[in-house]
Amino acid sequence: MNFLEQRIAKDGIVKPGNVLKVDSFLNHQMDIALMEEIGREFHRRFADKPITKVLTIEASGIGIACFAAKEFGVPMVFAKKSKSINIEGEMYIAEVESFTHKNKNQIIVSKKFLSSEDHLLIIDDFLANGCALQGLISIAEAAGATVEGLGIVIEKGFQIGGKVIRNLGYRLESLAIVDAMDPDTGTITFREQ
Ligand code: 5GP
Repeated sequence: MNFLEQRIAKDGIVKPGNVLKVDSFLNHQMDIALMEEIGREFHRRFADKPITKVLTIEASGIGIACFAAKEFGVPMVFAKKSKSINIEGEMYIAEVESFTHKNKNQIIVSKKFLSSEDHLLIIDDFLANGCALQGLISIAEAAGATVEGLGIVIEKGFQIGGKVIRNLGYRLESLAIVDAMDPDTGTITFREQ
């Protein structure tokens, strides 16, 4: 098991509805030493790419993306979830259905912060059905930017998102892939990588 799988096995809590809670170290309270290691690992995996910006989505992607961006020495941009739609023209907009909240949000990024010159690393905490990543990819495409790769901390391999994104031809790196989890026993099974 790698450093992250060990931590998930120790502190992750399996909830009904295919939800893994990691809020003691990743997305509510954050273990900063672990975040640094995650940032370094993303940098190691995408070191061959000419990354100019790291792109993520609020809220739980932000902390992770900061540590990755620091390793690359580039800015981090996060898509905001917005209810107002009257800003077209200045914003790139995509629609994203939330896995955890089951509602639809528009996500927006100001045109000031992404351009066709950019080579992006897209980062998020979880990959489930792939809606968040597809929204970020469509914003990158609208900007004419190049998506060099996508980095996920925890992919739930039994949900469809990983397959969808890889089938689109993108390089997707997940630091841990959970292939099965049982809310009754709390057992988490990782994919060998
Ligand atoms: P997707 O868009 O791939 O269906 O879902 C990814 C988004 O939903 C992530 O941004 C993450 O915040 C949230 N998410 C999906 N599955 C889980 C989960 O099992 N646990 C937690 N904490 N968040 C999840």
